[in-house]
Amino acid sequence: MNDGEIIAWCQTTGQPVRLIWTEGRFTSIESGPAIGVPPPDQWVAPPLVDLQVNGYAGVDFQGDGLSLEALRHATVQLRMAGCTRFLLTLVTDEWSALIARLRHLRELRMQSAELADAIAGWHIEGPFLSGEPGFCGAHDATLMRDPTPELIRQLRDAAGNDPLLLTLAPERQNAIAALELAVGLGMRVSLGHTNAPVKRLKQALQYGALAFTHLGNGCPRELDRHDNILWRLFELPGVKVSLIPDEIHVSPALFRLIHRELGRDAIFYVSDAMAAAGAPPGTYRLGRLELEVGEDQVVRYPGKPNFAGSALRPIDGVFRAAEMLRCAWQEVWTRYSEAPAKLMGLETAWRVGGAADFCLMEVTPENQLFDLKVYSGGKVGE
Ligand SMILES: [Zn+2]
Repeated sequence: MNDGEIIAWCQTTGQPVRLIWTEGRFTSIESGPAIGVPPPDQWVAPPLVDLQVNGYAGVDFQGDGLSLEALRHATVQLRMAGCTRFLLTLVTDEWSALIARLRHLRELRMQSAELADAIAGWHIEGPFLSGEPGFCGAHDATLMRDPTPELIRQLRDAAGNDPLLLTLAPERQNAIAALELAVGLGMRVSLGHTNAPVKRLKQALQYGALAFTHLGNGCPRELDRHDNILWRLFELPGVKVSLIPDEIHVSPALFRLIHRELGRDAIFYVSDAMAAAGAPPGTYRLGRLELEVGEDQVVRYPGKPNFAGSALRPIDGVFRAAEMLRCAWQEVWTRYSEAPAKLMGLETAWRVGGAADFCLMEVTPENQLFDLKVYSGGKVGE
């Protein structure tokens, strides 16, 4: 049986809400004081949407020949961490290997209704990125290349009509023409791992780039105090910016500063999670890299200063963001659900007839999360 009813405080309105569903779909959504008073710590919110997930719960999405079972395991674990939909992210590799991996994953996704729901599309981060030291991050700079119309078309073809986010560095040769073509083919383009001058960044926005990927990362630890990629972004109006809210990738002070400077509506959160997220400390793979993850959740590439993906569980990202911004969790939630969904043209609003997808939580007024149950199609768990 997949029917049910809950009454809780609604994260979006701050009002009581009653959700009723039958066979996994909402049949009634009522809100306002008239429906009664829910228990004080009982909250409900739309599920989280993560636009950058490289792997999860011990599963590396960059691995070749990934099984349906492994992909399903990662998906279930992500769901248990509040995230019911994500963009499966593939990072820089040999182009043919990258395309083959995308085709394989897409075939797996088509074999399972559950995976088709959870994998909302694909995020291709590389190989059209900056190869400059620091800006390349953990990506292999020797595999980076300039985009061409042919490569952009191959990517579209491999992903079919699925939603597709492409992160590129606009300073690469022919990047603006490639960006224009990608947008014309229905891709969303985000700038990242870039050291482009202001003029080029502005040009990229004019030609349809919408976002900037994980600001504060994908750049060297030391930056020129007079002119650097952060300052350039602060003066770029209209761009949406993703941040990794794990308190590690962006320091709390910079995290607050970025929110103040760009405005809260310009920001959305991503985990940039790799296989270690939602798994115990240990050694994990991200494509060709062997990475160490300690108790502190820092993902280390032995011998290199850059972080290589995060070990962040999406639900923890919400509460860490609220802690860094010293505000209520309800305020930041939207930046990890509605905001990223909107960027990709996905729905998050509940409606009668729509899937009964929501997070039911027990949270104290001090932002302490005691319990999380994630309903997907009206059901909890696997
Ligand atoms: Zn990156």
